[in-house]
Amino acid sequence: MESKKSYRVLLYYKYVHIENYEEYAAEHLKFCKELGLKGRILVAEEGINGTVSGTVEQTNKYTETMHSDPRFTDMQFKIDEHDGHVFKKMFVRPRQEIVSLRLENDINPNELTGTYMSPKEFYKEMQRDDVIILDVRNDYEYEIGHFRGAINPKVNAFRELPEWVRENLSEHKDKKILAYCTGGIRCEKFTGFLLEEGFKDVNQLHGGIIMYGKNEEVQGELYDGKCYVFDERISVRVNQKEDIIVSNCHHCGKKEDRYINCANPECNLQHVCCEECEEKHYRSCSAECRQHPRNRYKRELQKEEA
Ligand SMILES: [Zn+2]
Ligand SMILES: [Zn+2]
Repeated sequence: MESKKSYRVLLYYKYVHIENYEEYAAEHLKFCKELGLKGRILVAEEGINGTVSGTVEQTNKYTETMHSDPRFTDMQFKIDEHDGHVFKKMFVRPRQEIVSLRLENDINPNELTGTYMSPKEFYKEMQRDDVIILDVRNDYEYEIGHFRGAINPKVNAFRELPEWVRENLSEHKDKKILAYCTGGIRCEKFTGFLLEEGFKDVNQLHGGIIMYGKNEEVQGELYDGKCYVFDERISVRVNQKEDIIVSNCHHCGKKEDRYINCANPECNLQHVCCEECEEKHYRSCSAECRQHPRNRYKRELQKEEA
């Protein structure tokens, strides 16, 4: 089937030294706005981490310009087609880190990181029974999709992961670790941390779940559910062979993989919810939120009726 989608979503990162990163962030924002891109980019002294959307022309211009910068010549762009922007605005934010791990001794993945595994190798190694498949993402990301048999540390933020490892994984330092995340950026730093903690055989999925799903040989096999993404799409498909739903509706328990935000503007809780329950519960996570005087769903209904 020929694609008629005229927009693209780019996901990318690079750990590379950026001099005067705050100044660079301001310049980069100007450049992105001039191009007409929308998205969210983090810039730190250690590198760049971004997701942007734009037309094919705009995104081509962006990748070309970035690749012409000696710091980013080999930066890999993960490209998805889409039918519009996946962000409302354009942000470029200067930060201390491009992923927030906040270690006592920060890791530079260019100096210390786990062994990269191609999707094919990862697929093969995952099927051994003496390995630990470690999901380094947050609980809400794991909930709607993950590799079959992967451990869920159930953290709410990446920076909670080192403590979880010290408490739960310390006895397994001799085991082969297969770590993965969305696009690879978190694993780069996190596998470095595991090596520093004394883990002996630390590996990471190169290009993350996103490239695993695009790989023609593995076609996302052994990944169950969807992959959570940090833009308006909320999730993307990974497994091209099977479409398995691993999560359940927050209200009725039915198999469901759509995330929505609670309509109570003071709550906003992201929860899995089926279409029927969305209507029935006014897109709310609880009875209390349903009754909130400023419930957005209720307001939308009132507007429609007026
Ligand atoms: Zn339901
Ligand atoms: Zn709520």
